[in-house]
Amino acid sequence: MITAHLPAGYCVFQGCEAFSGRLIPYAMAAAIIGAILPDFDLLLFYLVDNRAFNHHRYWVHIPIFWAAIAVLGFLFLSLSKVHKSYHLTFSVFLFSIFVHLCLDSIVGGIMWLYPLNDTLYKFVVVPRIEGYHWLASFIFHWTFLLELMIWFVASLLFILNFKHKKRAEY
Ligand SMILES: [Zn+2]
Repeated sequence: MITAHLPAGYCVFQGCEAFSGRLIPYAMAAAIIGAILPDFDLLLFYLVDNRAFNHHRYWVHIPIFWAAIAVLGFLFLSLSKVHKSYHLTFSVFLFSIFVHLCLDSIVGGIMWLYPLNDTLYKFVVVPRIEGYHWLASFIFHWTFLLELMIWFVASLLFILNFKHKKRAEY
């Protein structure tokens, strides 16, 4: 996924609040940060490792790492005296991370079974358009329509939410 992680995070935020039926503290921040956080490994990818391997092999793109973070995080929250509603905030963050990894599994590939094996599992292999930048192969592939759909749904939710809030002010 190239462009749609941010709007996917917004959809996660809207979905989680609608599903829980309550306001979750810092839910939007948790969802948006979770949606884009794994791709900060691109800094390492470009600036340190000089694109030596697929950036989906960094630990922030590996599900078992986030499973460990989930266990440690909920343990910490349970032992500390923070309000129970922050469990929901953390859940929103983790769900957003999970959605990021699922979206990256469409064409990018995720090591879902690591450490059992290091295969990057993906649903669709995008053929390279010879003579063009690698980005063109993805933008002109049908899977890019999924990204546009996510942008569309997120925009719709944003507009509806904005109108709803405006009405509530009166
Ligand atoms: Zn990613």
